[in-house]
Amino acid sequence: MTQFFRRSLACAVALSLLVGGWLVIRAGAAQSQSAPPKYVFLFLADGGGIAHLEITRQYNRQVYNEGMVISDRIMKEGSVGLMTTHAANSLSTDSAAAATALASGCKANIGALGVCADGSVPSTVMEQAKKRGMRIGLVTNSTVYDASPAAFVCHVPNRRHFASIIDRYLELEPDVILGGGKEHFVPKGQPGSRRNDETDAIAAFQKKGYQKVSNKLELERTSGGKLLGLFSDKEMSFEIERKKDSEPSVYDMTRAAIRHLHDDNPHGFFAFIENENIDTASHLSDIAAVIHDYREFDRAIALAYEFYKKYPRETLILVTSDHETGGLGFTMALKDLSSTRSDNQAAATNADLKKLQAITISLQQASRILGPAPTEEGVDKLMREHFSGFTLAPEFKQAIIARKPPSRTLYIDPTAHALGLMIANNTQAYWQTSSHTNNPVAVAALGVGSEQFKGYYDNADFGKKLLALLDDSRTLLRR
Ligand SMILES: [Zn+2]
Repeated sequence: MTQFFRRSLACAVALSLLVGGWLVIRAGAAQSQSAPPKYVFLFLADGGGIAHLEITRQYNRQVYNEGMVISDRIMKEGSVGLMTTHAANSLSTDSAAAATALASGCKANIGALGVCADGSVPSTVMEQAKKRGMRIGLVTNSTVYDASPAAFVCHVPNRRHFASIIDRYLELEPDVILGGGKEHFVPKGQPGSRRNDETDAIAAFQKKGYQKVSNKLELERTSGGKLLGLFSDKEMSFEIERKKDSEPSVYDMTRAAIRHLHDDNPHGFFAFIENENIDTASHLSDIAAVIHDYREFDRAIALAYEFYKKYPRETLILVTSDHETGGLGFTMALKDLSSTRSDNQAAATNADLKKLQAITISLQQASRILGPAPTEEGVDKLMREHFSGFTLAPEFKQAIIARKPPSRTLYIDPTAHALGLMIANNTQAYWQTSSHTNNPVAVAALGVGSEQFKGYYDNADFGKKLLALLDDSRTLLRR
């Protein structure tokens, strides 16, 4: 062997060791970057767009001098992404098609749950989690069989097949089911039932070992085992008027869910936690109700953040939305319709934001109080009792009494929308529509795998990313 050849060989060996070492390091880095999370929290602000979050953030700052966990912790310490939300057959989606995309990684048609637009029926992220041996939990202040939670474990062509959804829950046995909707659990013969058969679904869950609770106190006393909580016949109350002693909030339900999913469990969990009222309030042009519910939602996320601080190498927190509802935003507007001159224009200020504190009920409740035939006296009394400091312009008062939609795009509840426009007129927080928009929504992610959720992508890609993270061929990261 010549000197030259020996040197060349030594160089080649050194180089291959270097390259090999680099490859091992890269592989290790790639593995640690995408190691599967043991604990997954998916928080969904139904209907919550970036404006909803930003208005709540500013309200918290101005009124309480407080920050928000979503913006100050999850977004600043983790990753932020922007996600498109259209359905396969519509530019503005519904919760069913959107949740199907998030849960199954495919585009779906409006109304479809866990069924893709091409007819295929893929596994959901939660079914994947269950296969991995993780506990699973569904928490919402809507009915527990509403589209968003249901899309994570069900495959039905129509979101209104409630009995089929409950049957699927019984089959899959999620460890925690908390929310409203008792009316589809009780048999046809019982008062308040909306079922078409004599099935006692609550008894069926109890037979499978579930503890059943129906109020806040009972929920606080539970420990260990599978849990079914049904806290109202239909959807649960708006936070602004919730009976704080008896009805749990999303925060209370999240606390119980973490206890049940985590205690005495070496296999991890996947918790889906939704605030549906952000969407419902937005359909009704109700900015005050949105803010109260968003604040409580953020408190629930604070519980997950505390959990993450204890298990940072094993926890993934995702906070997102299925779509934006209402086309909400502070803007400039005319003070009245007398002129378009600059001295008749108003821009939103912090003082406008603070005015919202005075509102004591949801617009849904205001609409109920005024009933189907509102009177002038009734409207005046409502304004005095629940909208102190607000002025009702004559055109909105007339719209309420006539029960006419105040615009082409605001039509679901004329009373609520006219009051919503009254609030807008006083604060400049305007609504574009009473329905869903195609605005992209934010994805905030913190913890194991959070870097996957950076950037700009479609909601079906969100589902694909989560499915890949929870792929059962990959081993669970251990501490
Ligand atoms: Zn909606």
